[in-house]
Amino acid sequence: MASVSSTTNKLSSSVQPPGRMRVLKERSGPSEDGPVVYWMFRDQRIRDNWALIHAVDEANRAGVPVAVAFNLFDQFLGAKARQLGFMLRGLKQLQLDLQESLQIPFFLFQGEAEETIPDFLRECGASLLVTDFSPLRKVQRCKEEICKRVSDLVTIHEVDAHNVVPTWVASEKLEYGARTIRGKINKMLPECLIDFPTLQPPSRKWAATSRLIDWDDLIADVLRKGAEVPEIEWCEPGEKAAMEVLMGSKNGFLTKRLKGYSADRNNPLKPRGLSGLSPYLHFGQISSQRCALEARRVRKLFPQAVDTFLEELIVRRELADNFCFYQHHYDSLQGAWGWARKTLMDHASDEREHIYTREQLEKAKTADPLWNASQLEMVYYGKMHGFMRQCHIASNISVMKMLMYWAKKILEWTRGPEEALEISIYLNDKYEIDGRDPSGYVGCMWSICGIHDQGWRERPIFGKIRYMNYAGCKRKFDVDGYISYVKRLVGEIKKRKSESLLSQKAKELRSS
Ligand SMILES: Cc1cc2nc3c(=O)[nH]c(=O)nc-3n(C[C@H](O)[C@H](O)[C@H](O)COP(=O)(O)OP(=O)(O)OC[C@H]3O[C@@H](n4cnc5c(N)ncnc54)[C@H](O)[C@@H]3O)c2cc1C
Repeated sequence: MASVSSTTNKLSSSVQPPGRMRVLKERSGPSEDGPVVYWMFRDQRIRDNWALIHAVDEANRAGVPVAVAFNLFDQFLGAKARQLGFMLRGLKQLQLDLQESLQIPFFLFQGEAEETIPDFLRECGASLLVTDFSPLRKVQRCKEEICKRVSDLVTIHEVDAHNVVPTWVASEKLEYGARTIRGKINKMLPECLIDFPTLQPPSRKWAATSRLIDWDDLIADVLRKGAEVPEIEWCEPGEKAAMEVLMGSKNGFLTKRLKGYSADRNNPLKPRGLSGLSPYLHFGQISSQRCALEARRVRKLFPQAVDTFLEELIVRRELADNFCFYQHHYDSLQGAWGWARKTLMDHASDEREHIYTREQLEKAKTADPLWNASQLEMVYYGKMHGFMRQCHIASNISVMKMLMYWAKKILEWTRGPEEALEISIYLNDKYEIDGRDPSGYVGCMWSICGIHDQGWRERPIFGKIRYMNYAGCKRKFDVDGYISYVKRLVGEIKKRKSESLLSQKAKELRSS
């Protein structure tokens, strides 16, 4: 295992498939009958959540009550209004539904989880803490600290509720690429890609009621503090909205848009050509297992589209978790393979045609109108089209991954690979609604450091890292059309923003 070295893998006797849960800490004192607490972090949903299912199941078997706790970190990898607003609006709905449908209380804490969670466990006398799984360093370290801080009477279970095949089950080591992990994942699918059991309200109710949470005040606060990157309008938060995007009757991906997925996903002029699920998957407002189950049900209609989607959703996404879990340096040059580090450093001082500062890049002030458009799409729209981040060419045997223009250009225009990686991750995490995700770190590492890729013909600056240029994009899609599309998009967003500011000012004047 990656970071909690004393962990043992234990088969759970509960309703979940074997290996989905691992024991981070076993109580050493006598068996206690305190309540179960589920510290929800990455899987922010009620439906199809193996961690919640496990927590309720354990509570029912011990005849004790169960609660959900959530910690809002003071600062989580630079998240701004865009990401925090989306998350809190989703959690606001979740609290209501949790209380109404399952009568499970929801407790919200603010600060550092390594303090708030042990404090809460002490306060309610809990015997079992259940957590969901994230491979990110900050979360893994936080769990190590919680393991040290809780009393000997508390057991801690971690459940991978995010991946179809739990990361530690899919592979016990850092995988080289999709081709080395694909077979391992596919072998586990019959056991892991199964229907979820129905979640019933726990048999024993929590005695005290949950504390009142002033959601509107909390949301206003994060919007004010993170105003530099405002919320987006096109993506409604929450579990219901997520299911609507997956299979709603209006514009659901599987119900209405699947047919064009294989072709339209490579067309940056068709942002709806992709599933649009990544914000929901990132915040855990939808389960990837649910997406895969529903996609499989319609496979006979569009087999190629479904196979492509499942490759992205399961193999590529879970490969990213594998990388971050087993490679602690998942966001720095240290995390690259030796050959890639060497070739990048051999070419680090090669002459560059342009050198831009982080500020120039952030403001899209480069000499390349295509790159500027993609950067502006990310800054204003909150999600760059997949093609701009990664291009796919369908071949008769596989979907071949190509370079990512946006990130590759940053390598070309900065003083070396370390700076390029730092800036691309900074921009991606700051503006993308689905940023601060293993898929984002791997996307940047793939583009700049050749992770999950192979060596290519050596050339200046890039060395043996795969190269892509403007001419390559021009051959694949209507570059001018894309630039005009982004110009229009940004113009509309700016106009709506100034209209809403005006109406807010008018409202304030009327009420003063
Ligand atoms: C430089 C770069 C930065 C990226 N940053 C992010 C990021 O911050 N957050 C993020 O979630 N993804 C990121 N990706 C991966 C990918 O581009 C997005 O997941 C995808 O564009 C999301 O749109 P979608 O849900 O409509 O995709 P779809 O094509 O509909 O795919 C369905 C799901 O499959 C998964 N997926 C698709 N492509 C990949 C991939 N290459 N690697 C891993 N998982 C994948 C995602 O979970 C996605 O939601 C990045 C890729 C690159 C090259």
